[in-house]
Amino acid sequence: MQTSGARRYPPSWPCVSCSATCAIHGRLRFLQVCMAKPCPPRVRFFAWLLVQEKIQCKTNLLLKNIIEDATCNLCTTEMESPDHLILHCPFAKRFWLQLGFCIPANASVTQLWQLRKPAALPQAHYSTYLLLCAWQLWKHRHDVVFRGETPSHLRLILSCKAEARLWRCRLPHDDQAITETWCNSFCSNM
Ligand SMILES: [Zn+2]
Repeated sequence: MQTSGARRYPPSWPCVSCSATCAIHGRLRFLQVCMAKPCPPRVRFFAWLLVQEKIQCKTNLLLKNIIEDATCNLCTTEMESPDHLILHCPFAKRFWLQLGFCIPANASVTQLWQLRKPAALPQAHYSTYLLLCAWQLWKHRHDVVFRGETPSHLRLILSCKAEARLWRCRLPHDDQAITETWCNSFCSNM
């Protein structure tokens, strides 16, 4: 969802028409973090699409007349929009709840970075952690849609933990221990 009257800027462009606390600046900061080394290239591309609600979820495919039914495979009750899939699907909400998040009713992927940080998580690389979780939700959805797997919070949590270990070497050396805190956040909620 685009902020009313606002322009979209590539992450390297300065925003010249609004305050430093506006949604555009927030999105720029988030994307700048996502485009940095800790996130693998395919995840950077996912982030770029996600904050613009352009991921190839079912409601977007329905708009392009590629599919005829946009029902979410994870809950089988609601339409699979970006916000639904990543934040508001009962499956996603339970996942975030397990990690200590409370998802507000008006939360949107266009402002994913505004999710309130659980106290146990470090502030450093918090946006990277959020993106890791959203990326794993997206991949889990793919396993359900394309491989016929059953939605499983345990499998999702385990994949988050494995991914966090893979991303460890991408963080600056002094920050690499943060991924252990991330893994603890996954382990403590299994
Ligand atoms: Zn759903």
